Amino acid sequence: MSRLAPYAAHEEQSRGRRHAEPKPAYRSEYQRDRDRIVHSTAFRRLVYKTQVFVNHEGDLYRTRLTHTLEVAQIARTVARQLRLNEALSESVCLAHDLGHTPFGHAGQDALNECMADFGGFEHNLQSLRVVDELEEHYADFDGLNLSFECREGILKHCSHKNALLLGDVGERFINREQPGLEAQLSNFADEIAYNNHDVDDGIRAGLITLEELSSVRLFAGYHAEVRALHPQIAGRRLVYEILRRIINHLVTDLVESSAARLREAGVASIQEVRAQRGFLIGFSEGTADLNQELKSFLRERLYKHHKVQRMTSKARRVVRELFDAFFTNPGLMPDEHRVTGSRREAAQGPSGLARAVSDYIAGMTDRYAILEHRRLFDPVERT
Ligand code: MG
Repeated sequence: MSRLAPYAAHEEQSRGRRHAEPKPAYRSEYQRDRDRIVHSTAFRRLVYKTQVFVNHEGDLYRTRLTHTLEVAQIARTVARQLRLNEALSESVCLAHDLGHTPFGHAGQDALNECMADFGGFEHNLQSLRVVDELEEHYADFDGLNLSFECREGILKHCSHKNALLLGDVGERFINREQPGLEAQLSNFADEIAYNNHDVDDGIRAGLITLEELSSVRLFAGYHAEVRALHPQIAGRRLVYEILRRIINHLVTDLVESSAARLREAGVASIQEVRAQRGFLIGFSEGTADLNQELKSFLRERLYKHHKVQRMTSKARRVVRELFDAFFTNPGLMPDEHRVTGSRREAAQGPSGLARAVSDYIAGMTDRYAILEHRRLFDPVERT
């Protein structure tokens, strides 16, 4: 009997890869996806991309790479408990942020503004672009040629307009179907990871305090519990003891509420999962409220903090100025990107060139973007 639940993604029923390939000898198809993601160039760049704090601000803050690893391990725990396909969950999570620009959301917003007349920029679509087109690893195809299920999981959301352009992975947005459970899970694993590590990084940076966090019920409750158990505890150890309890609370609730919903819905196959009106993976109502309170706190007190805003505004300027410089004068880009730009411009006009510039900028790490900006605008810096 299969260890996998009937509603999990079974690889014998996979919709396959865009380019047919022989089966791997010692791995499952989804393990092969995972290995390709880990070997990709975009994956290695995550180490120098920002989550909230710019990479060079401190060595202890999360980067997109450590964030990604936290997301993947949370998803694996939940997948295993629900008897979902653990390798697929892991692959989706490892790839979920590959399309992120430098400087986190500030970078993505700036690039989206630059691309307003040329189809926009969205990190989620860009992650798919990275694995479908931009990675150059294989002789026979562009991209990583991942399985349909992994690609579907990477594309978490998508406008109707874009869905029409995307073919197979866009279909579910047009037909209003749900993605597989492994893909649904990755959203929650992402949230659990970033809410908690942003609290940790925010405290470490001195931007939020334990006192302020007492307005967050989830935090206050576990703060009191840890203090009662360990009256002398303080500093980092106190923060970790609280956060590990919050993560445990959220993960446990996610497992139990999702299991209950799966039972209630009585789904017996991935097709039945797809046909549901909404996600089957999710928190209970009470925990969803508590989690929302934590998210709102972070939005107001951390992401809008003037120090984070200053960094954000610098980041936007860097991205905007890089884009304008390359788009007006593609000859400023390194050869490889300049050639791609002129090839695309010949085929699609200005939007082709804009897309090539956007791909180049999106692929930059924080420190590469800063250096490239200096090389272009600082007369003293060597070009
Ligand atoms: Mg993420």
